[in-house]
Amino acid sequence: MSIINCPSCNERISSQAMLCLHCGFKRGDVSEDELKEYRRRELREHIYRLKMASYGVLSLFLVAFAWYWKETQGFQYRSTMGPYLLLAMGAAAYLVIRLYLFKAKSALRRLAERSGFF
Ligand SMILES: [Zn+2]
Repeated sequence: MSIINCPSCNERISSQAMLCLHCGFKRGDVSEDELKEYRRRELREHIYRLKMASYGVLSLFLVAFAWYWKETQGFQYRSTMGPYLLLAMGAAAYLVIRLYLFKAKSALRRLAERSGFF
């Protein structure tokens, strides 16, 4: 018997338990390997979505810069607050995305390390 992570809520449960005590996820007769594969796929999709979101934020930076450029007419005049606000929002969103990306990647790494021991 070993401890695995619930594919639904990621809490630790016994590999023998057919039902997660934390979220009620029914494992049925799914094997441990299938569960790991499920979790791995889920994490990969999550990472993919986060990467797409970070590209979205990067294009937001470009828009903010273009707006700034237009307002200042090539750095000659002062800009309104608009471009700065957009830039600040983009930076905050980017940091949050990076944080989630870091968490998802280390979860995936832990999953890979655990698989190695079996
Ligand atoms: Zn669960």
